[in-house]
Amino acid sequence: AKDRGRNTFQFYTTELGEQTRERFDMEGGLRRAVERDELALHFQPQARLADDQVFGAEVLLRWHSPELGMVPPDRFIPIAEDSGLIHRIGHWVLEAACTQARRWEVAGQPLRISVNLSGAQIVHGDVVREVRHVLQQTGLTPDLLELEITEGFVIGHAERGAETLRQLRALGVSLAIDDFGTGYSSLSYLKRLPVQRLKIDRSFIRDLPDDADDCAIVSTVMAMAHSLGLEVVAEGVEVQAHQRYLNELGCQYYQGYLLSKPLPLAAFEAYLAGAQRG
Ligand code: C2E
Ligand code: CA
Ligand code: CA
Ligand code: CA
Repeated sequence: AKDRGRNTFQFYTTELGEQTRERFDMEGGLRRAVERDELALHFQPQARLADDQVFGAEVLLRWHSPELGMVPPDRFIPIAEDSGLIHRIGHWVLEAACTQARRWEVAGQPLRISVNLSGAQIVHGDVVREVRHVLQQTGLTPDLLELEITEGFVIGHAERGAETLRQLRALGVSLAIDDFGTGYSSLSYLKRLPVQRLKIDRSFIRDLPDDADDCAIVSTVMAMAHSLGLEVVAEGVEVQAHQRYLNELGCQYYQGYLLSKPLPLAAFEAYLAGAQRG
């Protein structure tokens, strides 16, 4: 709360129509959520397909509102983006995630964390300065931080986005394209971006190996990624049939309910301890 004054947001609604009522409540609640300590990070492990070795985790934001209950990020992130609150919330996520990752690093159990960045943070924010500052402040080794950017965003903001990605990459963090396959990026376009990893959207994984179209799409993405020297993470791996098929295609990494759901910190650490014992 040290900078409460600066963080007082100035959004006034002149006419509060019926349909904006719920939205207004959520925006107001969200504005107070950071200072009232209602936000939390959950962690979903990522592992190698070949041997289930856990090497990292995606950080997923949770909001427990006293008024609204547990609000899923698909509902509150768009409102945070429209209202500008995403900058404050995104900063909180980055700082909390890097602080935690640094604890694991210091404890001798380094784990790569993947943090979701909203497109608004890249276009309208000062995300390069922010990431540099958080790395300095926490002392986290930069290659333990990966930033996920959605494919749709990257395509929509070619020039500005690409320059920001290059500056982020220069800080030593790695970059992944999230929800890959949903945005029609071209091969030549991907080649120009400083990204290391593609995350295949879970909509293409769900019906593997029965759906012939999805099989074709996933194997094409694998071939393309291989020729560009990019790593691939499959998301939404829920059953062993998914895992087997992806392994056959040469996919190296996965994430999904088959491995674990996103977990609160204590449960995630217990999971890691169990995974290490084998
Ligand atoms: P995403 O980045 O695509 O995150 C993956 C989502 O898939 C998560 O939903 C996760 O819980 C879910 N998931 C993981 N494994 C499986 C599976 O095997 N099956 C199924 N059906 N789902 C699985 P979640 O946590 O509800 O997050 C939804 C979206 O909210 C995220 O999609 C991301 O776009 C956004 N989000 C979450 N946290 C943040 C954040 O800190 N910042 C930003 N900007 N966006 C966030
Ligand atoms: Ca993601
Ligand atoms: Ca995704
Ligand atoms: Ca998504």
